[in-house]
Amino acid sequence: MLNIRIEKTTSPRVRPDYSKLGFGKHFTDHMFLMNYSPEKGWHDARIVPYGPLSLDPSAMVFHYAQELFEGLKAYRREDGGIQLFRPDKNIERMNNTCDRLCVPRIAPEDALQAIKAVVEVDKDWVPHEFGTSLYIRPFIIATDEFLGVHPSHSYLFCIILSPSGAYYEAGINPVKIGVEREYVRCVKGGTGMSKCGGNYAASLIGQQKAEEKGYAQVLWLDGIHRKYIDEVGAMNVFFVIDGVVITPDLSDGSILPGVTRDSCIALLKHWGIPVEERKISIDEVIGAYKNGTLDEAFGSGTAAVISPIGELYDGDTKMVINNNEIGNISKHLYDAITGMQWGKFPDSMGWIEKID
Ligand SMILES: *Cc1c(COP(=O)(O)O)cnc(C)c1O
Repeated sequence: MLNIRIEKTTSPRVRPDYSKLGFGKHFTDHMFLMNYSPEKGWHDARIVPYGPLSLDPSAMVFHYAQELFEGLKAYRREDGGIQLFRPDKNIERMNNTCDRLCVPRIAPEDALQAIKAVVEVDKDWVPHEFGTSLYIRPFIIATDEFLGVHPSHSYLFCIILSPSGAYYEAGINPVKIGVEREYVRCVKGGTGMSKCGGNYAASLIGQQKAEEKGYAQVLWLDGIHRKYIDEVGAMNVFFVIDGVVITPDLSDGSILPGVTRDSCIALLKHWGIPVEERKISIDEVIGAYKNGTLDEAFGSGTAAVISPIGELYDGDTKMVINNNEIGNISKHLYDAITGMQWGKFPDSMGWIEKID
């Protein structure tokens, strides 16, 4: 149990226009901070007014990217209450990322307490419309003042909150995706399964290239054979071929284990829809398209929940999937997950953590 000191702001921030929130642009009145040192462990848990951090320019995070993050949301129910969706999964993944990046773990119960406490303090900021949410961004940075290449000894854990608009404001529209053949996101043995800023820095060039061609996201192939599908942009990816749902398996450690991915697999199993976690090559997807069995394709992630792929481009090959419309399985998953998250459906899977 953390002993969290709370210092409330005396100058509340100006509220954004809640009809034009967008994503990740506005921040609430407070943030959670906690420091780590080898002598004290994680200590000095506090909720303080939101504002700039003061760091020495030699702080290790600026040089060797010893940084990791998480992303989850607080949802407003119709009865006014607030809830989280599977926060234990985000905390477990954060600690797995800590292990990979030589960062000390945070006790899961302390991390959950911190998330709930800061959301509670800023609960008025959780928007009310269906589809809107309070995005929660926990992150850890290395703070040693040192330029040697070595794991830091001191760290800062921070949680910031951002009221965000509905991902789909005008209905779910399928996106264009381009297969990336030049750059890779990660390789086996690397940090593909870790949620760290470094992965994103390495992926920007592929994303930029895709945007220049008019695609929303990149379809990443594996870094060794350059043929098995890893992920789509910053989402996990699913294909429905001849009635079977297929998603790349996590065994190579090159894929981020998404909470939404896990939720989709669990629901599909619960519904008795065949689902396979296995390697799937881009050639298999193109082959299925050509013989007419590629029924649906979609990305999964906290931001969009489900993002149907309407058009898939590989060089000069253009594939239009399900008439560029959302498919039945995609829609069924989207409705079930969002229904639970915003409390419209009963929590039949035990995935909801109420705050209020
Ligand atoms: C966060 C993330 C995902 C999606 O994970 P969720 O827990 O479902 O939000 C997928 N891929 C990458 C690279 C990510 O960073």
